[in-house]
Amino acid sequence: MKPYEVERLSVVIPVYNEQDSLPELLQRTCAACEQLPCSFEIILVDDGSRDSSAELLQEAAAQPGSPVIAVILNRNYGQHAAIMAGFEQCTGDLVITLDADLQNPPEEIPSLVRTAAEGYDVVGTVRLQRKDSALRRLPSRLVNFAVLRSTGVPMTDFGCMLRAYRRTVVDAMLKCREHSTFIPILANSFARYTCEIPVRHAAREHGESKYGFMKLINLMFDLVTTMSTAPLRMLSLFGAALALVGFAFALLLLVLRLAHGPEWAAQGVFVLFAVLFIFTGAQFLGLGLLGEYLGRVYRDVRAHPRFFVERIVRAPAPGPQLAANLRQVHLR
Ligand code: UDP
Ligand code: MG
Repeated sequence: MKPYEVERLSVVIPVYNEQDSLPELLQRTCAACEQLPCSFEIILVDDGSRDSSAELLQEAAAQPGSPVIAVILNRNYGQHAAIMAGFEQCTGDLVITLDADLQNPPEEIPSLVRTAAEGYDVVGTVRLQRKDSALRRLPSRLVNFAVLRSTGVPMTDFGCMLRAYRRTVVDAMLKCREHSTFIPILANSFARYTCEIPVRHAAREHGESKYGFMKLINLMFDLVTTMSTAPLRMLSLFGAALALVGFAFALLLLVLRLAHGPEWAAQGVFVLFAVLFIFTGAQFLGLGLLGEYLGRVYRDVRAHPRFFVERIVRAPAPGPQLAANLRQVHLR
């Protein structure tokens, strides 16, 4: 891991009906960024707000010398799509994402930048004393657990959007054209060095969470499908296991029938169970097989870059002295 210098920082913030928090957000984010030795820009993406957020943003961006850049989307596309729209406009060599509702304190930005500069491609965060309702926390816990189990990526809090991404990782994410995406997991698939730091978390002061029940379910599916096609493979595994149990059961019945005679077999009712198990298992196996094809089609449709070259290192071109030395060696 090699430390690097952050020369320009981009902060990307998705905004959806957040007019009450915007003035404080802008003020605190600017104050935090001004402490840093690098130049910065703050990109606010209005995700089709129905209140006056878009107007406020445009006003802030139109001030002469303002570090704010307002990106206005025509309608609501969702938090992650809005962040992607911000990524498309940013020019920094380190990009930090943040929520607009001030639940992630902007004062944490300098510590994220410092940590990233130690050489990390992605810096995640863990919320200390998370200030959300238990009902909002439960799905997040399930998600974190599922991600941990299926990707093995050593991160614990995927829900917190206060994160830093290095330029190379952002560029790689921009090459992914799929519509449903979950940025923290996508980013991890392009990162070499990642770490997590603890950050504070505040309660939402204005308005309510924009994630209702259906939106959370949707997010969960985005997350699972961003991760992998492993759930499809589960079908095959489940089917194979069920069919095996059916076979074992049938064998057991045969042995018991031979040992105890025909009275024991209850007119073949148990045999029906065994047959049912075998056939149901075979059906799941077939479904899983279909899933495997579907998974491959999905992977191709997503058109992710096949690999991601972080950097290429070559020996420098020979200077005049080196070339002369080489020639001498040849002449001798
Ligand atoms: N957000 C957005 N589009 C949406 C939903 C949310 O841009 O469709 C933004 C929202 O303005 C906020 C961030 O995403 O800046 C996180 O949303 P919220 O605070 O409602 O989510 P939670 O904190 O409950 O996860
Ligand atoms: Mg929030």
